[in-house]
Amino acid sequence: MSQEELGIFIEDEFDYAHFIPNHSKCYPLHGHTAKVKIELIGIQKDFDMIIDFGELKKMIKNTLSLYDHKLIASKRYVKEEYKDKVIISYDEFKIELPKKDLYLLNEEVTTENLAKDISKKLIQVLPEHIKMIKVEIYEGARKGAFGRSRR
Ligand SMILES: [Zn+2]
Repeated sequence: MSQEELGIFIEDEFDYAHFIPNHSKCYPLHGHTAKVKIELIGIQKDFDMIIDFGELKKMIKNTLSLYDHKLIASKRYVKEEYKDKVIISYDEFKIELPKKDLYLLNEEVTTENLAKDISKKLIQVLPEHIKMIKVEIYEGARKGAFGRSRR
């Protein structure tokens, strides 16, 4: 018996700032434009499509807007938290910023952990007939990381 898998992909991008304490190159606060490639495996539905690209694009934009133009930081560097603002501090850096401009991860903000976080978020908002999602994030033009989530 043969078993085929059929998928689609879409690309997008988002901008973010981050830092990786104690890393020789990535410790200062700096930013990236992350090119993202999202692959989905699923079952063909209406019009023999897995999902309409227009609809998919909206869901992806929505999810990526959680990260876009934000400081993405690990929870471990949150030193003080107020109603609308947060103070982040590590090494020689101390940053005070509005909560709305911050996205927190449990782990360090590497491309790997971002790919994992986005793929987990996306599988939750996509329809049931999408069985697998792979989120690739480019770090520069020729390398990157990916995370996969299955139902
Ligand atoms: Zn970086």
